[in-house]
Amino acid sequence: MLPEYDIIIVGSGLGGLLCGAILGKEGFRVCVLEKNRQYGGSLQTFSRDKTLFDSGVHYIGGLAPGQTLEQVFNYLGLMDALKLQQLDVDGFDRIFFLEDGCEYALAQGYDRFAASLKQAFPAEAGAIDQYCSTIRELCSKFPMYNLRSGEGMSGKETVMGIDTLRFLQSITRNQRLQEVLAGNNFLYAGQPDKTPLYVHALVVNSYIESAWKILDGGSQITKQLVKLIRSTGGDLFNHTEVVKLEGDKERLTMVVTKDGRLFRAKHFISNLHPKRTVEITESPLLKTAYRNRINRLADTVSSFCLNAVLKPGVVRYLNHNYYLHQPGAVWRAVEATPDDWPLSAGVFFTEDGSRPGYAESVSILTYMSAGEWDPWKESFNTDSQQGERGADYHRLKTEKAELLLKLVSARFPELVEAISSYSCATPLSFRDYIGTEDGSLYGIAKDYRNPMATYLPTRTKVPNLFLTGQNVLLHGILGVTITALTTCSEFVLVEGLLNKIRNAT
Ligand SMILES: Cc1cc2nc3c(=O)[nH]c(=O)nc-3n(C[C@H](O)[C@H](O)[C@H](O)COP(=O)(O)OP(=O)(O)OC[C@H]3O[C@@H](n4cnc5c(N)ncnc54)[C@H](O)[C@@H]3O)c2cc1C
Repeated sequence: MLPEYDIIIVGSGLGGLLCGAILGKEGFRVCVLEKNRQYGGSLQTFSRDKTLFDSGVHYIGGLAPGQTLEQVFNYLGLMDALKLQQLDVDGFDRIFFLEDGCEYALAQGYDRFAASLKQAFPAEAGAIDQYCSTIRELCSKFPMYNLRSGEGMSGKETVMGIDTLRFLQSITRNQRLQEVLAGNNFLYAGQPDKTPLYVHALVVNSYIESAWKILDGGSQITKQLVKLIRSTGGDLFNHTEVVKLEGDKERLTMVVTKDGRLFRAKHFISNLHPKRTVEITESPLLKTAYRNRINRLADTVSSFCLNAVLKPGVVRYLNHNYYLHQPGAVWRAVEATPDDWPLSAGVFFTEDGSRPGYAESVSILTYMSAGEWDPWKESFNTDSQQGERGADYHRLKTEKAELLLKLVSARFPELVEAISSYSCATPLSFRDYIGTEDGSLYGIAKDYRNPMATYLPTRTKVPNLFLTGQNVLLHGILGVTITALTTCSEFVLVEGLLNKIRNAT
């Protein structure tokens, strides 16, 4: 007879691991199943030329004492285990415009944030204050984001139908200020006339509160969560791709893996993209209308990432990130075509541990649609299932890398010469490692015109199947964390859990 777990979690992205760790700590016997060799999904790291790179996460917000993520990480015992470095308080992100070489700093702490913008835009003090108060008020409408419970959707619905771009246009006619306030919209793949203001607010607020780098990579979070799950008696299996969730007319009873193994449980949490979840779930309770509704949801665009190892002791380390924009690109970059790509880039440096003050590596990220890689869409390549995509694929990668480096040299002319080697991840790399359709950056794109359709509940039509991860409420480390708390509140009394989190030190 197969062992029966309390809860099987399919996928070990941050959401899956957090649910495993929290529910394990709360007394449930959990089992996490992961298709890749490495746990963590977008928290995975890899090394090139003995240099460590993050595949996704480059910085996180809300980790100062008393802030939401810090409280949750304290409860999980993560804070003591992670090596963190706070980014420059006077400007964790710098927004740079190529057309005139002007650079603007986004500072940490609302007072500092507003003061530094007022210095750059002295005539816009009113608009800057209105921006800050609106963002904070909006964030207060999301109880779980503030580690509160019990207010349901009522306060939120009123604010979920506001468009980010239109809001910015409504508070100021100064286009440059509008662009600066949206200048790091790569963090949420902001789309004009689509991205709701609540998404912008919940994401930027966490970084304005405080912005941090995880030294030694995001996989440090994974390592601690895996350890915690094991310490609670839970199991994790890598190289274990789930291909079927099955049961009877009323509930699910087991999962089937690609290599034919069966795992049984009372409850199931899927950390997969909801499209993949409905695809592999065999249950009459998931009606065609529900499946169609999920399948029609559009994803955020994918990305192209260049990771470069730098010659030692050449490039000064900058303890802040850059977002570089071509003229008019802040809201257009997400829709770049092969003819005008790349329109923007995010630049993230990592300090050389053995040469403080110098950068060891740099990661450069930009949007990219998966369509350009269609000739190779039947290919598959990860470290656990290797495949070759061929010379033309590598040629296109190099062409793209050169275009991206050309854009970045406008701000960092010395950088190209300082690169000793680089590698690139394309939308196909993200697709294959995460198991999404098109390698989407943040999963389902939220839409202010139809906010409730893109803000998925953690419950499904199958009573013992729940969702978690970036596709549900919100993406990003903080977004996935509050989503995981929401998923876990299906199993434990939410007020009790939040009390423990609020009181954790
Ligand atoms: C390029 C990039 C940069 C980012 N930068 C930042 C940043 O700087 N700061 C920030 O806060 N956030 C950032 N994010 C977002 C953040 O990384 C994600 O929102 C978050 O990590 C997603 O977690 P998740 O729980 O949704 O799981 P995912 O990371 O989506 O993981 C899902 C897991 O499920 C597994 N899986 C899929 N199918 C199966 C199957 N059939 N069987 C078993 N397992 C399966 C996958 O292998 C994967 O491990 C970035 C994301 C990307 C892609």
